[in-house]
Amino acid sequence: MTPLERAFRERIAADGPVTVEAYMEACNAFYYATRDPLGRGGDFTTAPEISQMFGEMIGAALADSWKRAGSPGDAIYAELGPGRGTLAADALRVLRAAGFAGPVHFVETSPVLQQAQAKAVPGATWHDNLVDVPAAPLLMVANEFFDALPIQQIVDGEERCITVVGNALAFVRDGQVEEMSPVREAAAAAIGTCVAHCGGVAILIDYGHARTAPGDTLQAVRGHEYASVLVNPGEQDLTSHVDFEALAETAAEAEALVTEVLPQGEWLIRLGIEARAQSLSRANPDRAKDVQLALERLTSRDQMGELFKVMAIYSDAWPVPAGFA
Ligand code: SAH
Repeated sequence: MTPLERAFRERIAADGPVTVEAYMEACNAFYYATRDPLGRGGDFTTAPEISQMFGEMIGAALADSWKRAGSPGDAIYAELGPGRGTLAADALRVLRAAGFAGPVHFVETSPVLQQAQAKAVPGATWHDNLVDVPAAPLLMVANEFFDALPIQQIVDGEERCITVVGNALAFVRDGQVEEMSPVREAAAAAIGTCVAHCGGVAILIDYGHARTAPGDTLQAVRGHEYASVLVNPGEQDLTSHVDFEALAETAAEAEALVTEVLPQGEWLIRLGIEARAQSLSRANPDRAKDVQLALERLTSRDQMGELFKVMAIYSDAWPVPAGFA
C-alpha cells in the first residue's frame, strides 16, 4: 500500500469519503513533489521533450506578439509547470535572439522539478502560485499544466466522492459524470486579469476539448500505460481533459481576449514548424529521420496533433497572437 493510500484510508475512516477533487489534488501534489516523471524512463513524454522545435515555435509566437506590441521593456517570460525547463530553454533562445531581455518566472511546486529547471534556465525566479507572478506585460506559456490541476466530478447533481469498499478504494456513486474545475478556472481568471491590466499573451496547450461536454475523462498513467485511477495513489499521474470553453469564458469575464481553440498540429504548421524541421534536417543530415519522426508526433492527427489543443488569452492592447485567425 502506498503511503498516500494509507493516509486516505485513515482520513476516510475518520471523516468519511473524500471528494474526487481532494483526491486528485493530494495525489498529484505527492506525485510531482517526489519525482521527475518525464521521458522514456518515467511515466509520460511531453511535446517539449520530443523535440526542440516545439519550444522554438512557442518562443517565435511569443516574440512576434512582443515585437508587434512595441517590444515593451518591462515584459516578463512566465511559465506554469515547466517540467524539466526544456520548453523554456528552447523558447527563450528564440526570444533572446529577438531582443527580449526580461526576467524569467516559473510557477512550480515540485522541488525535484525546480532543480531540473534551474539547470536548464539559470537565473529564473520560482513561485508556488500563479497569483505571485509580478504584475508586468506577460509572455506566458503553460503546456500540460491545466490537465494536472484537480477537477470535480458531478453525478446526479452531487459531487462524486471516493470511499473504501471491502479492501479497496471505490467511487461512492456511478452514473453520468459531468466535470468542472474551479481550480483551473481560478488560474484562467488570474491569467485574464493579469493580461487585461498589464498587457501580454498566454499560450495554453493541453489535451482536451474546445466545447464543454459531459463524460468521465479522469485518467491515470504510469510507465507510459493507462492505469486505474484508484490504485497506487500518489505513484501515477492523474489528469483529465481540459475544458477550453470553460477557461475561455472565465478569462473573458476578467476582460481579456481569447483566441479560437486550434488543434496543436494545425497551429504548429501555421507557425512554420515544417520549414523549421527542414532547416534542422539540412543542418544535421544524420538526424533528419529523427526530426521527421518528431514532426509527425507533434503534428499528425493520429498522434498529438489533434487531441492536443492550443488557445491564447491576450490583452486587447496587444495583437492577435500568431497562428490564430
Ligand atoms: N510543461 C512541462 C511539464 C508538464 S507536467 C512539459 O510540457 O514537459 C506538469 C507540470 O506542472 C510539472 O512541472 C508539475 O510539477 C507542475 N504542477 C502540477 N501541479 C501544479 C500546481 N498545482 N502548481 C504548480 N505546478 C504544478
